[in-house]
Amino acid sequence: MNLILLGAPGAGKGTQAAVISERLNIPQISTGNIIREALRSGTEMGLKAKSYIDSGKLVPDDVVIGIIKDRLQNDDCQNGFILDGFPRTIPQAEALDEMGVRIDKVIDIEVSDDVIVTRLSGRRVCEKCGRPYHIVDLKPRVDGICDDCTGALIQRKDDQIDTVKARLEIYHSETEPLKGYYEAQGKLSVVFGQGKVDETTALTMVALEA
Ligand code: AMP
Repeated sequence: MNLILLGAPGAGKGTQAAVISERLNIPQISTGNIIREALRSGTEMGLKAKSYIDSGKLVPDDVVIGIIKDRLQNDDCQNGFILDGFPRTIPQAEALDEMGVRIDKVIDIEVSDDVIVTRLSGRRVCEKCGRPYHIVDLKPRVDGICDDCTGALIQRKDDQIDTVKARLEIYHSETEPLKGYYEAQGKLSVVFGQGKVDETTALTMVALEA
């Protein structure tokens, strides 16, 4: 199954994508994680993306489209994949269509802006593997340490309040129109994402099986 998870930053796409990835045994492809990894390893692409990612702006379409084009060619995508954080603009969605990538389902996780702001300011992520946590709602087993890979948990620069607000503005103007794009293709399912993680997971599973 080829899936897209849509939603505002902090809506829970990463968390839900990880659950689906494990259950369906298909890779979770997060452009944000790929870019952050490139930044850590100091590649040319990472350096180009740094100013965009730090200020909460979108990295130019041609860069992220290139990343996805390469990543989807990996063997592990043969039985399907989950795109988490891509597409984020209409031209990115059009690029997927032009590449001939078949999308089976698009799950949109809906969360209001005020909840997003609270969530992101408490979000911590593993600096090694990117797994997300929350200081109140989604604590690791050991304080400050990732359950999966024992990496240190940090706050992302772009999770600071002013940057979160900028990211939300961009989400509404650039990314939200994708709902209409995929609705017109009959692929959109909307999930209410303001409850507890387990509740959102249950609703996501229902949407997946519908
Ligand atoms: P995320 O971890 O998905 O919230 O992404 C973090 C940042 O990476 C975003 O704020 C953008 O700067 C960049 N980014 C990730 N995915 C995309 C995309 N599809 N298009 C443009 N920029 C992206």
